[in-house]
Amino acid sequence: MTTLTVLGATGSIGLSTLALVDEHPERFRVTALTAHSRPDALAELALRYRPELTVIGDPRHHRQLQERLAGHGLATAAGEEGLVAAAGLAADCVVAGIVGIAGLAPTMAAVHRGATVALANKECLIAAGHLFRAAVAEHGARLLPVDSEHNALFQALAGSDGRDVEKLTITASGGPFRKASVAEMRAATPEAALRHPNWKMGAKITIDSATMVNKGLELIEAHQLFDLPDERLDVLVHPQSVVHGMVHYQDGSVIAQLGCSDMRVPISYCLGHPERLASSVPRLDLAKLATLSFEPPDPARFPALRVARACLRAGGAAPTILNAADEVAVAAFLDRRIGFLDIVAVIEEVLADLSPPSPTDLAAVFAIDAEARSLAEQAIRMRFPRTVSEPAP
Ligand code: NAD
Ligand code: MG
Repeated sequence: MTTLTVLGATGSIGLSTLALVDEHPERFRVTALTAHSRPDALAELALRYRPELTVIGDPRHHRQLQERLAGHGLATAAGEEGLVAAAGLAADCVVAGIVGIAGLAPTMAAVHRGATVALANKECLIAAGHLFRAAVAEHGARLLPVDSEHNALFQALAGSDGRDVEKLTITASGGPFRKASVAEMRAATPEAALRHPNWKMGAKITIDSATMVNKGLELIEAHQLFDLPDERLDVLVHPQSVVHGMVHYQDGSVIAQLGCSDMRVPISYCLGHPERLASSVPRLDLAKLATLSFEPPDPARFPALRVARACLRAGGAAPTILNAADEVAVAAFLDRRIGFLDIVAVIEEVLADLSPPSPTDLAAVFAIDAEARSLAEQAIRMRFPRTVSEPAP
């Protein structure tokens, strides 16, 4: 029996994880569940999985969660302390499925007690890469990458000590605007940008996929996970999303991982590791697909990759700033306060305006994050003093 805590249980990663628990009730028991702001959805999950602790991140919803769970003998908590407490409970594996920098403190709490962490929250490795890795090493935690490309690389690297690796390739679907003109991208609405061709994911990462900021963040994530420099990390646009990552070895062999675009595949690899769990995910039918195609990303329409590579090379505070500015810019785009192409423009402006020293502890990471957020807000207000009143999707 493996005990499991799911941080971000109501999200796309969280629900995919719980779907795997449903397939293996004899193998997994849920220790804690968390969510941010949907107490009813969280309560429903708590009644079903009966965790030791159920935590709502936004304390304003705690009363409603308590009311929904009253009389069921289920403990609850709220706020960041609650999230950290959930991660600190003695579960064998913690699935880090919170979106954004909000996942950093709770995921770090799991690392600090030496847990196995199935990491979907890439922001930990981007905003606090070196500190996060150092904590993993110091506390003997085990890090298993959930992000599909990194999970693919992790699988394709099995049996290698890394010295025989020439380079790593991660694939990108190209998102909804793979073939769009600059004019179409400039006019893109949140609805259009949220229409991802292959994956069903949370709103933040879906917009990041459309701008390809997600792929940029993933280059930094790959750099942190596999210790290779920028020039040995490649991105290929692969519209079918079947090949997720490839390891190029020094003998000319390329080992790739393939699978349908369903996050239950990489999550199940993490939950079962080192075994493979049986799963009911759709099987790959290559004859039916017939064609797999690959193309280089277009640097003119997708400047995010260049910006992220510069942050990767600069290291220090740059990735922290990139992550923070992107979170603010994506939220502003979803609120219709800025246009689609402004997302990366705002990020570049904040990066140009801020050059703090490399963070040496988590407090410094949060301080840089806060400063970058406030500069991003300022950049958005300067460009777009007028707010549009249409409601967000
Ligand atoms: P989502 O928006 O669907 O779910 C996010 C979860 O985090 C929800 O349970 C929400 O309640 C919780 N949450 C949001 N803000 C919070 C806060 N401030 N404090 C505490 N909890 C909060 O997001 P998702 O698509 O599941 O993505 C989760 C993470 O996994 C992200 O870091 C994303 O980059 C990564 N990821 C997701 C996918 C995917 O297919 N969805 C793939 C690869 C990586
Ligand atoms: Mg990914």
